This record gives sequence, structure tokens and C-alpha cells, in this order.
Amino acid sequence: MRRTNSSAHNASGSAGSLYIHVPFCEAKCVYCAFASAIKSPGDEELYLASLEREAALRSEEAGTLDTVYIGGGTPTALSERAWERLTETLERHFDFANDAEFTVEANPNSLTRDHIGIWRNYRVNRVSIGVQSLTDSRLAYLGRIHTAMQAQSAVARSLDAGFSVSADMMFGLPDETIRDWGRDLKSAVALGTRHISIYQLTMEPGTPLAARDTALPDGYAQYRYAQWRLPRHGLAQYEVASFARAGYESRHNLNYWSDGEYLGLGPSAWSYVGGARSKNAPTLAEYARMLESGSPEIYSERLEGEAAARQAAVLALRTAGGVDREKFADRYGEEHARAIMRDIAGFPGDLVDMDAKSVRLTAKGLRVGNAIWNEIV
Ligand code: SF4
Repeated sequence: MRRTNSSAHNASGSAGSLYIHVPFCEAKCVYCAFASAIKSPGDEELYLASLEREAALRSEEAGTLDTVYIGGGTPTALSERAWERLTETLERHFDFANDAEFTVEANPNSLTRDHIGIWRNYRVNRVSIGVQSLTDSRLAYLGRIHTAMQAQSAVARSLDAGFSVSADMMFGLPDETIRDWGRDLKSAVALGTRHISIYQLTMEPGTPLAARDTALPDGYAQYRYAQWRLPRHGLAQYEVASFARAGYESRHNLNYWSDGEYLGLGPSAWSYVGGARSKNAPTLAEYARMLESGSPEIYSERLEGEAAARQAAVLALRTAGGVDREKFADRYGEEHARAIMRDIAGFPGDLVDMDAKSVRLTAKGLRVGNAIWNEIV
């Protein structure tokens, strides 16, 4: 077992953040285009052996970990035995800061008492639960294989175990009223979640939802409602899709949005290390095969100069804090910073807040964020 490092930050300039992708789900939700599949016999073993191999290859790039995020797919689709092996792999290859944030994603139908027990005895301190809705008819529409009651139980059991709990919630179903969405949000807050991420249902090409002859609402009113409602329950908007009580913001995600580096392991995982963004092979079979002869990377790019600065500005503008102008100019250069600020100044004043210190999108600006980011990048 490797030592626990007491330093909270990396002196070496290495990533400090780790993402692990679990490529399994118990069933495919009708809207989902993520890289995940239903397990076949032998898949779990192949995944764990390959992950061990990739961790051995790349752990030096991570340095001391401040944040870890195990997502998917569905991490609770892994058996308890697999979870024990996964934690052993992590201990063998990585060092952790004492106060590292360690998040796992869970689905209500597969979160077991044993998962919770393993996580409690390990380093996990945050659980992000795929609730999506607390109304059974809405869950059925989405092809989720859990009920509202199972979602309530998953949140309650995770809170009882002492984890900080986040709930993913989805809006924009056909014929959805503000009352429907408001009821779901109110129920999610009433459960005691201190972090809520909201996602709009979209038609992803190739999914069963896209094959249905149905129209989805534009979601503007629902999004606006969440911006109004959640802060009244004490959950402030700190990013375009994220709301939290003070102190419960996701440090792992804040690292992404501040253009911080991270190491990603597993099929389809992205990494951003040493200034290069790279992506692993998407399927388990291809990932495992490529690892046998070296790296599982299928794509890599390095943004430089103004392109890198524009990408970083877009990431920062996702957050309530926005762009810190002085730090931004120091990191990306005065000239690029000036060019980007000139572009941002061209947006209407009700979309952007600019002062000498920072530049942020207003609540209205966040509602049309995609259009703004497309103009900047
Ligand atoms: S559980 Fe998540 S990753 Fe799995 S199919 Fe559903 S939406 Fe996709």
C-alpha cells in the first residue's frame, strides 16, 4: 500500500486530479449516448486487469491526488468484489492528499449496503446519485430502471452513512409543466441533498429517444425556474448546471472549469496532462487490446496561444466566479486576454457582468451560455 501524503497540493506540477470511467450499466436509458454497455461474462475481470495496467503506466502523471471522481456508466454496476479490487489498485498506484475529495457516482437500483460499507471504509466522502426524477412516470419515460422510492432510499442511505450527497436531476421531458419540474426539485432538496446538478433532456443521435417521433421543449423556462428556486432553498448556482450549499461545491469539477489538469483512466476517458488533451479508446475490448501493446489513446491535441486562452475563458465563464482578469492575463498572456475581453464586451450588458477584476455571465447569460461560448471559442 502506498503512503498517504499530507501535502494538499502537487509540487511537481502533475495533474492532482483523477477520473476513472466505469464502462458498465445495468440497462441503457433511452436518451443515453455515453460510452457504456451491459456487462458480459468476463468483462469485469477484463476491465479491472486493464485498469490496473493503465494505472501502472500513468500514475506518475497524477502526482498527489486532491480530487478523485469515479463515474460512468454506472460505478455501482461493479460488484462489491470488483470495488474491493478497484480500491486495491488505487492504493497500489496513487498517493492521496489527506483532505482529498473522493466522489463516486451511484444509481439508485444498484447501490447496495456493501457498496456503502466499502466506500465508508475507504476514502470516499462524496456520492453523486443519478436520481433524474422523483416521479415514477417521468422515470419510466426516461427508461430508468429504478423507482422514485429507490432514489429516495439511495439518497437517505448515503446521507446516513455520512457522505456528502449530490443528485443529478433532468428536465425538458415532453409535456413537462413547471409544476412537474418544480415538484421534482423540491423533493430532491427535501431529501437533504446539498448539491444538485441539472441536465436538459436532449435528442442524441442513435438513441431510442431520437427514434421516437416526439418533440422536446426548449427547456428555457425550466432552467430559469431552477435558477430562481434552488437559491431559495440555500443552493446557490456556482456553475451553469450546478447548485450547492456553501462549502459543498464539487472541487473535482471546479478543477476542470479552471483549466486544471487531470488524469483519466478507463475506456473513453479524457486526460489533460502536460498541456495535452487525450482520449482513450471508447469500448472496453478496444481499450484492453490497445493496452496490451502500449497506450490506449486514440486522440490527442495540444491547444496553444489564443486557442488555449479562448478554451480556458469558455470554461471559466461556465462558473459564477467567471474569469479573474489579472490571473487570466498572467497565465495566457496580455494580448490574448485583451482580444477575448474585447469580444466579450460586445455582448449585451444583461448577459455579461464586467468590471476591472472579473468577467462573469449573468443569470440570463448562463441561460444562453452555449450561444455565448460558441462566439468566444
Ligand atoms: S445509467 Fe447513465 S450512463 Fe447508464 S445508460 Fe443511463 S444515463 Fe447512460
